[in-house]
Amino acid sequence: MRRPVIAANWKMYKTRAETLQFFERFKPLVRATKHCDIIIAPPFTSLSTAAEAARDTKIIIAAQNAYWESEGAFTGAISMRMILEAGCSAVILGHSERRRYFGETDASVNRKLKAALAANLQPLVCVGETIEEREAGNTEAVLETQFRGGMAGLTAGEFSRILLAYEPVWAIGTGRTATPELAAESHALLRRFTRENFGAGSASALRILYGGSVKPDNIGGLMGQEEIDGALVGGASLDAQAFASIVNF
Ligand code: PEP
Repeated sequence: MRRPVIAANWKMYKTRAETLQFFERFKPLVRATKHCDIIIAPPFTSLSTAAEAARDTKIIIAAQNAYWESEGAFTGAISMRMILEAGCSAVILGHSERRRYFGETDASVNRKLKAALAANLQPLVCVGETIEEREAGNTEAVLETQFRGGMAGLTAGEFSRILLAYEPVWAIGTGRTATPELAAESHALLRRFTRENFGAGSASALRILYGGSVKPDNIGGLMGQEEIDGALVGGASLDAQAFASIVNF
């Protein structure tokens, strides 16, 4: 039985004051929650505020990205060591918005993934196809390329420390959720790639989150699928009440 994980990706939302306000409202709503891991990924500037606010809880704080070099002349970049110091124990890598707007590739995801593992951070790696790729019948090929490229060179031991998120690009922020069956189909593909690359034990232990317009009213159906081990939530995670209802699905 895999332990569910519900993760919030706040993207470029929430100042430090808004972060504090969120935690004040959210913490009482999940105080009794024991059935899943909770991850919250605020923007860089709110990481330490969030970590401080989450100190008396089991909520895991994650960054939304970080660079693979440990330090140097890389203007605007933030290292794994820096996010660790800010209170993170996890990091999202390869989100489709990073891929689309900031030139993230499978090769850069792979370098960041290795740096995150070396820094003892838990990586949450995102993969997913665009609508054009799906309609052209290329979903499996796209997911396989992203999986193999992103995970290249990892040992099974290293792989066991990661979380994977399947996020069909056409479902992110669009209000168009993949049906639970369709999401489960892609999760099963990702589990097959895991079995082929890292063995059956890794495949059955891997936790795969679904992301794409997850809301309080569709989380139940998604979590009813054996293949779906959790959710990565964007828009609906900005509201404490809505995110708490997703966590307490
Ligand atoms: C996301 O940002 O990863 C995401 C899935 O966003 P939304 O829930 O808003 O579709």
